[in-house]
Amino acid sequence: MKKIFAANWKLFKSPKETREFFTQFKELSSKATGEVVFFPSAISLEATSTSLQGTNIKWGVQNAYFQAQGAFTGENSAQVVKELGGTYVLIGHSERRKIFGESDALIADKVAFTQSLGLIPMLCIGETLEEREAKHTFRVCETQLLQGLSKADKSKPVVIAYEPVWAIGTGKVATPEQVAETHTDVFSILQKLGFEQSPILYGGSVKPDNAAGLIKQPHVNGFLVGGASLEAKSFIDIATV
Ligand code: PEP
Repeated sequence: MKKIFAANWKLFKSPKETREFFTQFKELSSKATGEVVFFPSAISLEATSTSLQGTNIKWGVQNAYFQAQGAFTGENSAQVVKELGGTYVLIGHSERRKIFGESDALIADKVAFTQSLGLIPMLCIGETLEEREAKHTFRVCETQLLQGLSKADKSKPVVIAYEPVWAIGTGKVATPEQVAETHTDVFSILQKLGFEQSPILYGGSVKPDNAAGLIKQPHVNGFLVGGASLEAKSFIDIATV
């Protein structure tokens, strides 16, 4: 399976900073050993689209509503992302779940709508520290997958990003053993649901110095990277493992 290296820029980088980043990144990008995907903030999508024209670097939006247009103040349209040349929609990131109260039911609608447009949902799942300590990691991943994929089309692509919440933006990366165990569990759940073709990315404090150890683990098909994707050199170092 091809590897995927995805960058989640959260609420960082203006359109100007985005253009400057890609001027530098495009020179390095041919070294990447898999597909590279960027999720800039919505206001920098057009700068991303223009900067990446004529390259094989993919991009998408960090969140999009499950309708193409209408009275949904503040939301993003996946249809517009498609028109601009985007490929992916990031769905159910833990910050969307926690800060913006997104439910598994809403996430399921977003996954289905994204697929209906021919875009690829990248569905994020993962447990909190309390859930891991209570040994509920499997159950949490199973519920989030079962519900998040409940309206998804098995014949169309979906990418899964396993991101333990306690590892996101904390510098506390999961150990290779924890990643191996949970990715094997996630794969078995996907198999049971009929989505075993879906790549499973790991996310949570991935850095150039821990990426090589993590990519070797079973069922790790790439990474979703936050902080370390904001600088071209560190992201390409991760995308060349
Ligand atoms: C993320 O935002 O999805 C993420 C994994 O962030 P970081 O790499 O900074 O932990």
